[in-house]
Amino acid sequence: MPDINECQICGDPAPPIPGQCDGVAGYRLIRDPWSELPSFLDGNIHFSCLEASEKRTQFHDEFTRMVQAGHEEIQSLDNSPPPLTRMGLGMTQIFSGSTCSVFQSNVSDRWMIIKRTGPWVRLQLEDLLEIGRSRKPRSPAEVVTYRLPLDVKGDIGAYSLPELLNALGVANKYTPADELADVDYEFVDYYPPKRILEYMARAPLVIPEEARFFLADYIEEYTPVSFDDEERA
Ligand SMILES: [Zn+2]
Repeated sequence: MPDINECQICGDPAPPIPGQCDGVAGYRLIRDPWSELPSFLDGNIHFSCLEASEKRTQFHDEFTRMVQAGHEEIQSLDNSPPPLTRMGLGMTQIFSGSTCSVFQSNVSDRWMIIKRTGPWVRLQLEDLLEIGRSRKPRSPAEVVTYRLPLDVKGDIGAYSLPELLNALGVANKYTPADELADVDYEFVDYYPPKRILEYMARAPLVIPEEARFFLADYIEEYTPVSFDDEERA
């Protein structure tokens, strides 16, 4: 089984970048359709590998079910009782189109777009407001902690994002260098003994057109659920 920092489909290094590479945590108990032995997915996935995979529909269907589920019972890997219990994301589908579906959290201002080909995009309230203004949302300025699965020569702190992906040998798994230039990549820290890299990658979130049209209308009528809670907290 690949390391969680490697793509669970191709086995190559897979630093997360919103819209291009993301992870599925093992405790979500999603069956790994790419593993030869029965196992649950635990780690990152290049979206280019996902879209190219003949098993993408199998993954899409189970991922979509988990996103909508609350607590639910899942068969153990060898089908022996008792069943396992997983915690889904408890989201509700609010849009279903030909290329994607949109899901909304029942408890906070969070949304997820899942493309029929497998990849997903996470959205927050400010992203929907940007869509409502006909602007392109960007992923949040969050620090990602990523353990490089292999040694990289050179001064990692000085690398641009395309240089980092080249050094890891995975530039072809992400969008071409001219599109990567739209990602605001910022090196934060590197701890060589454990090859732990910290970085921020604010990427333009590519929203399928039908979802963009839907969300632009939807946000006009939407009442945020978490403002009051945050103020009280
Ligand atoms: Zn891959």
